[in-house]
Amino acid sequence: MDKKIAVLGDIHANLDALDVVLADAKEQGATDWICVGDVVGYNACPNECCAKIRELGAVTVCGNHDHYCAFDESLEDFHPLAAAVVAWTRRQLSTENREWLRSLPYQKVVRGLTVVHATLDQPEHWGYVFESVEAEPSFTYQRTQLCFHGHTHVPAVFEQHGFGAVGRLPAEDFQLVLGRKYFVNTGSVGQPRDSDSRASYILYEPGSRTIRFRRLDYDVSAAQQRVLAAGLPEHLARRLAAGR
Ligand code: ZN
Repeated sequence: MDKKIAVLGDIHANLDALDVVLADAKEQGATDWICVGDVVGYNACPNECCAKIRELGAVTVCGNHDHYCAFDESLEDFHPLAAAVVAWTRRQLSTENREWLRSLPYQKVVRGLTVVHATLDQPEHWGYVFESVEAEPSFTYQRTQLCFHGHTHVPAVFEQHGFGAVGRLPAEDFQLVLGRKYFVNTGSVGQPRDSDSRASYILYEPGSRTIRFRRLDYDVSAAQQRVLAAGLPEHLARRLAAGR
C-alpha cells in the first residue's frame, strides 16, 4: 500500500476539530502521522489533544504554545489574554503530558522530510512566515526537498527554484517538481486564521509526491461552549467562528 502521511498542527486544544480531522485522515487512508506543533493553548482540551497525538505515535515538533505551557517561564512580557490561557493550560496539563511536551524537539528530519513549527533558521525564536521573503532564511537551512511547518495558522506553499529564487504558490493541491524545494504550511486544525473557520490539514503521498490540502467543517459551537465553560476568555470562542 502506498504511504499517505497526514500532516497536521496548530491543534490548540480544540478536540472537536481534531476528532474530525483524525476521522477524515483515517478515512482517506492515512498510514503515517506528522504534527507541526502547538498541540495545546487557546482552547479547552489540552490533555485530550496530547493523548490523541501521542496515541497515534505522530512525529511531533514543539510549538511556541507547547513550550510556554510546558515550562514555567515568566509570562510578564505576554499579552494579558495570552498569559491567562498559558496559566490555565499549565494548571490543566497532566504531569505525563507536560513531560511529553517538554521532550519535543524544535525540528526533526524524518522519512526524508523536515518538520518545524515556525522557521528553520531560528526555530526557537518563533518567527512568522507570511511572505516569500520571510521563507528565504528557512530554505538556507532546509536539507530535504520538502519541509512542513505551521505557526501562522494560514495554509501556504513557498517554493525555491534551482537558483535560489523563492516564490509563493496558491495553497492548493500540487505535485512536487524535482529540483525545487518546498516550505509548506499545513494551516491550523484548531484555530484557522484565513477567514475560513474549517479545520485545515494536509495529506502527503510520498509515492506520487502529491500534496493535498483538506478543509473540514466541525462543530464550532461545541468547541466554543467548551471554551466558555472552562472560563477561558470569550474572545477565544468568538474567533473560532470567524476563522481569524
Ligand atoms: Zn499556533
